Amino acid sequence: MAETLAVIGGGVVGLNVALALQHEGFAVTIYDRDEATGAAHRGASHRNAGGFAFSDIFPLASPGIMARAPGWLLDPLGPLAIRPGHALALVPWLWRFWRATRPERYRAGVAAQTALMTHSQAALERQLQVIGGRELISAQGQLQVYEGAASFAASSAEWDLRREHGVAFDLLDSPEQIADIQPGLSPRFTHAGFTDGWINTIDPARWMAHLRAAFLRAGGEIAAAGVQAVKPGEADIILETTQGEHRGDRAVITAGAWSHRLTAGLGDRLPLETERGYNTTLPPGAFDLRTQLTFSEHGFVVSRIGEGLRVGGAVELGGLELAPNFRRSKALLQRAKRFMPALKTDGGAQWMGFRPTLPDSLPVIDHASATDRIVYAFGHGHLGLTQAAGTAEIVADLMLGRDPGLLMAPFRTARFG
Ligand SMILES: Cc1cc2nc3c(=O)[nH]c(=O)nc-3n(C[C@H](O)[C@H](O)[C@H](O)COP(=O)(O)OP(=O)(O)OC[C@H]3O[C@@H](n4cnc5c(N)ncnc54)[C@H](O)[C@@H]3O)c2cc1C
Repeated sequence: MAETLAVIGGGVVGLNVALALQHEGFAVTIYDRDEATGAAHRGASHRNAGGFAFSDIFPLASPGIMARAPGWLLDPLGPLAIRPGHALALVPWLWRFWRATRPERYRAGVAAQTALMTHSQAALERQLQVIGGRELISAQGQLQVYEGAASFAASSAEWDLRREHGVAFDLLDSPEQIADIQPGLSPRFTHAGFTDGWINTIDPARWMAHLRAAFLRAGGEIAAAGVQAVKPGEADIILETTQGEHRGDRAVITAGAWSHRLTAGLGDRLPLETERGYNTTLPPGAFDLRTQLTFSEHGFVVSRIGEGLRVGGAVELGGLELAPNFRRSKALLQRAKRFMPALKTDGGAQWMGFRPTLPDSLPVIDHASATDRIVYAFGHGHLGLTQAAGTAEIVADLMLGRDPGLLMAPFRTARFG
């Protein structure tokens, strides 16, 4: 009989992990407390920007960010905000974040992120071959725009690093060149980097539905249950859930921004926070968008979602309990209107999502210290969609005692002491 495996959390990471372990012959059940609520998912995966951002190899914790942060923080609706009600709880995480900005740690972070990206890009291709879904992927590149030569020059080290790590791109230095790729932007954007190979899913919700259907088709089960605790048994694992106690052979914790609540019970105290992100999805006809647009200095992106488009981003360090501040979605939309004057901003639907994030911007992919029967996979921050297929293959390797083929130390729990 097949070994049973519980996946706790059915976001994009959980679904990918479930598929990968099902492929290895496990009888997999996903436990998700939002399963019963249908569309009202609290997780980050259903309404994100949809970018497979394989060229985004830079940890948020970067040299220089601490100098820029106070300026951003002065604007309560700017790209980075700390909610006063969460500020005190955030101090230990911020301290670790600051330490991760040291140049040598940053360089190591870029190398680790690049390795996971390379692995994830290949894993996505393998996944497409197994379960299909190519019709849900669009390849229109990504245009990252800058206002003036000085702000472009400030980003040149990042473009150099991308080149060093094998990312292909073109640099543009006039509004005319930019307009050839994306007409209709304000002429204040004079410089840009265009990453031709960038891909998006046409809609993260449809991507999730596709993964879920493939999992169910292959005999997977989804339980509408919240997991309150995961415990190692003698030769199995025990889940305490809102639907009673369940036993199984193995488990993977993929509960996004809530994962640390479960790992703490297993003796692994991890500094997981959430970078809350906001967006607005606009109906068809809002703008003739030709590529994904990234306004990095302003902390937001614009991507095509179905026939409409989605404007969003920003980072709000506000924990898991405080109510969303949708003035943030509105502020991003107003800014987008300034940058894309023909943008029609009516009829949008707002959303806030919890990015799960560790202070060094790298996920945890590791065994629980209490038992090899439990594996953790969470903390993908801005990149969970991008890294989910690669993470899932690594989890399968860890479960089966195989070498994942990349240096795992940067993703271990032990890096947090
Ligand atoms: C505005 C925004 C834009 C983004 N854009 C992109 C992008 O373009 N590209 C990209 O790669 N990434 C993007 N991201 C990040 C990406 O969405 C996340 O990294 C990813 O969705 C995290 O997936 P996850 O499966 O770890 O967590 P989630 O999607 O949050 O899923 C976790 C699930 O676990 C469930 N759960 C939690 N605790 C329990 C429990 N105790 N018992 C049972 N179930 C539980 C939750 O209800 C949830 O369904 C974006 C995020 C935001 C907010």
